[in-house]
Amino acid sequence: MSRVHALTIAGSDSGGGAGIQADLKTFSALGAYGMSVLTALTAQSTQGVFAVHPVPPDFVAAQLDTVLADIRVDAAKLGMLANAEIVHAVADGLRRHAIEHVVLDTVMIAKGGHPLLALDAVEAIRTQLLPLASLITPNLPEAAALLDCDVATTETEMCRQGRALCEAGARAVLMKGGHLDGDICPDWLITADGEHRFADARIRTKNTHGTGCTLSAALAALRPRHADWTTTVDAARAYLRAAISEADALQIGNGIGPVHH
Ligand code: PLP
Repeated sequence: MSRVHALTIAGSDSGGGAGIQADLKTFSALGAYGMSVLTALTAQSTQGVFAVHPVPPDFVAAQLDTVLADIRVDAAKLGMLANAEIVHAVADGLRRHAIEHVVLDTVMIAKGGHPLLALDAVEAIRTQLLPLASLITPNLPEAAALLDCDVATTETEMCRQGRALCEAGARAVLMKGGHLDGDICPDWLITADGEHRFADARIRTKNTHGTGCTLSAALAALRPRHADWTTTVDAARAYLRAAISEADALQIGNGIGPVHH
């Protein structure tokens, strides 16, 4: 296969650690050609998100249509979508263009607590985007918001919620267990074929900014080269693990620094 063409539909992080910037760095590191459709600008550093400026939904659609009219896209990842109008514009765009692999990172709140998605957009994500995605990658608070239930505190609950998201229309779910207590970080992949547990020892570092963006971008860049989601998740987790392991070596900013690309 020729080089993978990967598209990110996401927000900009002016500090370079998350969002579009992390996605494009990940695509490059994994040998993919990267493209971007911007949904929002953030004024952001390692110290937090200070302002958000959403892109008008028709301009999000214009970016998507312009890129896809010219360039082959093998896989896309969806990150920060900011509001319900942008969610609708992206869902309509995905219906106009058939993209084989679509990873939906259900971004809602930045680690520092700043909202990256309007509350009323959760419903739009659930009804419009869940059925269009090949894989969704919620962390535990995001899964709970999508299901309107309590945040899972055990792996059993985590799996039950993953299955509930499949019943709600998702084709495959990667439940990310980083929010669980303990020295192990378990993720569970739930697909129609069954369930698969991935687990590694937790790496202790304060520099974790952009981990979710990096993982979903790696999943999109790697999926066209793998037979299924299980082997893709294995490879994407290995990339993220290396990025987190080396994060402490970086001296970037005064807050929660980025992982290493
Ligand atoms: N900024 C943008 C544009 C993002 O897309 C994201 C996450 O998806 C974040 C910030 C939050 O990153 P983190 O929660 O890893 O700090």
